[in-house]
Amino acid sequence: MSKLFPDYTPAWETEDHRLLREHAGTFLAKEATPHQEAWAEQHHVDRDFWRKAGAAGLLCLDVEEQYGGGGGNFGHEAVVAHERSMAHDTAFGFEVHSTIVSHYVAAYASEEQKRRWLPQLASGEKVIGIAMTEPDTGSDLQAVRTTAVREGDHYVINGSKTFISNATHADLMVIVAKTDTSQGARGISLFVAEVSDDTPGFTRGRVLQKIGQHGQDTRELSFVDVRVPAANLLGGEEGQGFIQLMNQLPRERLILGVTGAGMAEAAVTEAIAYAKARQAFGKPILDFQNTRFVLAECKTEVLALRTFIDHCVQHAIDGTLDAATASMAKLYGTDKQVEIVDRCLQVFGGYGYMMEYPIAQMYAAARVQKIYGGTSEIMKELIGRSL
Ligand SMILES: Cc1cc2nc3c(=O)[nH]c(=O)nc-3n(C[C@H](O)[C@H](O)[C@H](O)COP(=O)(O)OP(=O)(O)OC[C@H]3O[C@@H](n4cnc5c(N)ncnc54)[C@H](O)[C@@H]3O)c2cc1C
Repeated sequence: MSKLFPDYTPAWETEDHRLLREHAGTFLAKEATPHQEAWAEQHHVDRDFWRKAGAAGLLCLDVEEQYGGGGGNFGHEAVVAHERSMAHDTAFGFEVHSTIVSHYVAAYASEEQKRRWLPQLASGEKVIGIAMTEPDTGSDLQAVRTTAVREGDHYVINGSKTFISNATHADLMVIVAKTDTSQGARGISLFVAEVSDDTPGFTRGRVLQKIGQHGQDTRELSFVDVRVPAANLLGGEEGQGFIQLMNQLPRERLILGVTGAGMAEAAVTEAIAYAKARQAFGKPILDFQNTRFVLAECKTEVLALRTFIDHCVQHAIDGTLDAATASMAKLYGTDKQVEIVDRCLQVFGGYGYMMEYPIAQMYAAARVQKIYGGTSEIMKELIGRSL
């Protein structure tokens, strides 16, 4: 809930969104905020937290009700993502699971698979991730080397993936693989693999030591002759993967812009409170013109950012979000996040550099926002195509 802009209401926000905002804010402040340190130490949220979030009705909010989802729209996902930022959570893989990857299932899986998987994703019984990136290729997705070869009624998958979010808890993994290695984009297909620690040939690799977001389970994954039923080819036809990715990536990019705006708002909120409490030269540091001006600028920029992001959320709700606008949301939202969090950290002096302060965790968590989900440079390329 915004302490910074108590009167601000996104144009798309309905009473249902407002009630969800209150509910999600209360839930996350109680169930996520206090556990950040413990989750950072173990490099994953407690498995039970997924089920709690599901029971609280916070997962798969814009998946149809007939598949166990919330029956809402992108605004519901944006509300939870924003409240997660305001709760200083940097561990819960909500956006990957709920906003992004569940939608590959909702959009391209068979009716029977949707009925089987989506209710479990909405309840938090199962966790999902997506494995696109490989050690040798990230931005250039067409160059993936993981292969899927048809053998009878299965595909046999071989390859290595890296930087995969939700990789410790994932029970379902959307895998980007080549079904035709002689082709670039047209050789790519997506598969949903049901994975466990006992799946033959499937290995969850080392937990990666990141700069921030320590509570998020980011790992390497290895596939050696992993057999996936042919029915788990998304869309039922080989070679559709790249188009499917291009259709889903705007959602991913926008939700990263939403979290960027949320974290920037959380940082300014924290910095104002600190500047009122911290004394130097016999007065609160907010009394120094520099501190006041910095925070005045940051507050202004956060409101401008939110209104832009909410304009994009409106497009997503209306079904009119295009790739260039989604890329603008990601580019601008994450650039501003990094810049504003940095300026706010300065207000904290030395305490801003101490991990026990949320501002330090926000600073460490922010940097990757300009990298994953498509780098800032790739966003500029995509926006450039609309010029
Ligand atoms: C914490 C974390 C979580 C992640 N989670 C996931 C996940 O769940 N699933 C998943 O599949 N991936 C995930 N990723 C991977 C992420 O999406 C990639 O790191 C990202 O797409 C960049 O790919 P790369 O690291 O291979 O960099 P590269 O593609 O090698 O890029 C290196 C540099 O070159 C620049 N560059 C590349 N191509 C161009 C170009 N055409 N024009 C201009 N500049 C260019 C890039 O912008 C970048 O600055 C995650 C990454 C991190 C760090």
